[in-house]
This record gives sequence, structure tokens and C-alpha cells, in this order.
Amino acid sequence: MRRVPLVVANWKMNHTARAAEEFAAALRPLIAPFADEIGSRLEVAIAPAFPALDRLGQALSGSGIALAAQNVHEADSGAFTGEVSLAMLADLGCRLVLIGHSERRHLFGETDERVLAKLDRLLASELGAILCVGETLAEREGGQLGRVLARQLEEPIRRVAASARPPERSLVVAYEPVWAIGTGRVATPDLARAAHAEIRSHLVAGLGPAGERVRILYGGSLKPANARSLLEQPDIDGALVGGASLDPVDFSSLVSICRETQRERS
Ligand code: PEP
Repeated sequence: MRRVPLVVANWKMNHTARAAEEFAAALRPLIAPFADEIGSRLEVAIAPAFPALDRLGQALSGSGIALAAQNVHEADSGAFTGEVSLAMLADLGCRLVLIGHSERRHLFGETDERVLAKLDRLLASELGAILCVGETLAEREGGQLGRVLARQLEEPIRRVAASARPPERSLVVAYEPVWAIGTGRVATPDLARAAHAEIRSHLVAGLGPAGERVRILYGGSLKPANARSLLEQPDIDGALVGGASLDPVDFSSLVSICRETQRERS
């Protein structure tokens, strides 16, 4: 099954709007050799901090690179100080939204129920959800990987199945072992392959053949130096990149490696 590879930058709380414009200007020549593939045979998205969305969107105009958001509130509007609605993101041209990132779950107390509410809101729109899942070190060492993935995936997949939207447009899953995020400790290719295969079996169990069309990204300390051996694994359809996405040279290298490995695989 050929899935369009996807590389997503998660800038977290980094880069002002001006730095985002400078990043876009530096990135364009670096991706020029395959610019015509972006948006069709290869998808790339950047999730900046909210204040940079507007200017980054303008700076990326015509590049085929999509704008993504790091979070969304499930309500349409109201008294939710500090939050951002889906309509606000859509208005700025966002196409994808991260939900359930481990930093949201662990630092901000976001529960599975909140993640589901956000997913429901996204499913009622035209934006796609990037649902982040993954186990902590204690869960992995305690043999809990299967249980954690089932808990984080089964109900979201049920909601996707019940929605009228094609699953491959409404959902991307990002497997991000919590112990690998921002720690420099990357999952081994074998370990990532096994987790992605397990995620794929949940997708197929819940969505039937459409589950084969949903992309599964790997995330966690990915860098140009370690990306190839991970991105060439079956069922790793791209990457969610934190630290290494802040630098245009590293990010463009990761996009290029993803493009090459996926071409070799197909
Ligand atoms: C992330 O936070 O989604 C991530 C993958 O971060 P890093 O690449 O820095 O580990």
C-alpha cells in the first residue's frame, strides 16, 4: 500500500513570527530540488506556536507546505482564557492539528477524554488530526506498551470509523515513545517497527481496508543522522520532528531522507 509520506515540524514554544519567516526563507532553496513534489507525492507541514501561524502561513505561500497547529480547544468559542478554537486555526489556513501530544498529556494534564473531545471537533471539520500516542519508560519497562496503545487508540479509531470523512484524510497517528521525546534517546528501528505494526493492526481492526491508508509517523529525537534506519521501516510513513525541525538545514535533510526512503520502499 503506497501512502504519501508526511513530515511534520513541531516547533513547540520556539520561534517568533519573525524567526518563522526567516526559517521559511531559508527552507525554500533547500527544498527546491523536489519542490514540485511537495503537496502531492510528499507532504510537509509545520506547526509553529500560535502567534507565528499567520506570518508563517504567508511566508510559505505557494510552497505546498501545509500549516499545522500544536493544539486546539474543543469548544467553538466562549470563556476559555488562553485557548484557541478550530475556526481560528482554519481561518489562518491550518490543515492539520496535533492532539494528545505527550507534553500536553503530561505537563498540562490533558486526559484521553479531552483528546477525544478535540478529535470529535476535528472530525466535524475539514482539518486533519495528528493523534499522538506512546508509552512512558515505566510503561514500556512494565510490559504495558500494548495496553497503552489500545487505550490511546481504540476509542479514537471508533470515532473516526463513525465519521463520514475518509479516515486517511481525517487521521494521522504519530507514535512518539515518551522516553524518546527531546531526550536524544531514539527508538531502535526494531522497536519502532513493532510498535508501528501494532498501531497498524488497531487501524485495520477498527477501519477495515481504510486502516491501511492512514499514515503512521514516528517521533522522538529524530535527526538526519538517525532518520534513515527508522524511516525505511514498513509502516513508518513519515516523521513528527521536534528539536531537529527548528533548523532549516536539519529539517530539509529530514524531508529529503523521508522522500528517498519512501521511494525506495514503494
Ligand atoms: C515531538 O515533540 O513531537 C518530538 C518528536 O520532539 P523531539 O524530536 O525533539 O524528540
